[in-house]
Amino acid sequence: MLARARPVLAALSSLARAALDLIVPPPEPCALCRGPLSADTDLCVCTACLDKLGRIDGARCARCGRAVACGKARRTRLCRPCAAAPPALDAGRAYGVYDGYMRAVIHGLKYRGDLLAARGLGELMAWLACVDPRFGTARAVVPVPLHPRRLRERGYNQAAELARVVGEELGLPVVEAVARVRETQPQSSLSWSQRRRNTARAFQAVAPGAVRGRDVIVVDDIYTTGATASAVAVSLKRAGARRVYGLFAAASSLTRDLIPEGTGGIRGEKRHEPATNG
Ligand SMILES: [Zn+2]
Ligand SMILES: [Zn+2]
Repeated sequence: MLARARPVLAALSSLARAALDLIVPPPEPCALCRGPLSADTDLCVCTACLDKLGRIDGARCARCGRAVACGKARRTRLCRPCAAAPPALDAGRAYGVYDGYMRAVIHGLKYRGDLLAARGLGELMAWLACVDPRFGTARAVVPVPLHPRRLRERGYNQAAELARVVGEELGLPVVEAVARVRETQPQSSLSWSQRRRNTARAFQAVAPGAVRGRDVIVVDDIYTTGATASAVAVSLKRAGARRVYGLFAAASSLTRDLIPEGTGGIRGEKRHEPATNG
């Protein structure tokens, strides 16, 4: 008797669970690790992931948002590359340092099709734009474009995936206002000055009406030399954009800023990487 009732009871219990899920939806998993989210957060990233992402909290470059540590950078409030050749960005922020867990998450988004990671990182980037008053005047979000051939190979543009979330969260339109008109070599194989030459004239504004007279936010996954973001900012400004802010999931740290002056170069940038935009 009991044996025959078991399947019925099991069916009833799964029906009850489904009914309960309709009333109280089960918590979504963390967008980055797929682990459980705690009930007391509005974010889609769990506290364990937040702890591991390496948020840039301390001294940072006023121009690009990169973490800086040496005394000189603290005085000038600029990282060395920005002090030497400031990017065309009016202000920039990056959520975390491009290293460790952040690097792994970005690689998942960029090379393994983990698009849910864009939801997690995009929310954190939007939060950054909310807490930085300089971004308050922005009226549109512009993703750094991929070259059409690279887009066909990858199937998506990770910067556009991030920009979509940032736009949703900030209530701003996402405008594909810039196109990559020249295919560039992967930035990771180039020196810093080569990166700047590589990206100069690589971009062209294609929707000037959407940015003219407006402050806009350029979104990309990684900020390394700033060459890419700066070239996009130049083309947006040529199209009439007023101020251009940069918003990045991560910025590389400068080894040179973290060691005493005069004892080394920017060696931290030399690690082998799959193609980054720069
Ligand atoms: Zn997580
Ligand atoms: Zn900087």
